[in-house]
Amino acid sequence: MTKAKPQVSTQRTKKSNPATVRKPATPRSAYSKEEIREIFRRFSVQRPEPKGELDHTNAFTLLVAVALSAQATDIGVNKATKTLFAVADTPEKMAALGEEQLTSYIRTIGLYRNKAKNVIALSQRLITEFGSEVPRTREELVSLPGVGRKTANVVMSMAFGEATIAVDTHIFRISNRIGLAPGKTPDAVEAKLEKIIPPDYLFHAHHWLILHGRYVCKARKPDCPACVIADICKAAEKTSEMPAPLVPAG
Ligand code: SF4
Repeated sequence: MTKAKPQVSTQRTKKSNPATVRKPATPRSAYSKEEIREIFRRFSVQRPEPKGELDHTNAFTLLVAVALSAQATDIGVNKATKTLFAVADTPEKMAALGEEQLTSYIRTIGLYRNKAKNVIALSQRLITEFGSEVPRTREELVSLPGVGRKTANVVMSMAFGEATIAVDTHIFRISNRIGLAPGKTPDAVEAKLEKIIPPDYLFHAHHWLILHGRYVCKARKPDCPACVIADICKAAEKTSEMPAPLVPAG
């Protein structure tokens, strides 16, 4: 009996052309345009003029406060900067203070040694390269020691009125938890939020989301009965379908 010859394919194995390889699709927002508009409309009624909670007196002290706030609470930073900014509210005064003295003001804040080094270095850079002014562009801001994209975005928004979204721990959590702007990295979430938030709500969106995360949609246990978007929210873990009364937050 003759053995059947193994079939040899005459077709050439197709190599994938890198130009045509599709990136895995990132999940889209779980909300329609109308739902997103309604979410931010309610936030705007609840907090018509949302404010950041980091105390500062000018663009420089804002920059320093935001740089100090990484992995620290705003309340903790405010306690330390109250006395610090009374003696050093300009790059010159901060640089003159020096690293050791600055450390004594901020030692209650996490990572204070590294932060002190960066604040002195960024003050010196501001003096030598930016005429003691805080620069306005993201490129220039992130070139300063200890200043990342998040810090730059907060400064651009709060000091210079730019509509930016600085994705902090609260915004990252909410965006993924409720499926508003799912993303694996803060940059991915930032890009998605900027795309889906209606332009007329974009400027305040950053603070609305942070405050919502800090006081209502909290990390360990979201307070759904106190949530004004409970009926729209699509989070698997939500515990209420009934939105809280839409009144200005006290
Ligand atoms: S309903 Fe609950 S999970 Fe959804 S946004 Fe509100 S607090 Fe967060």
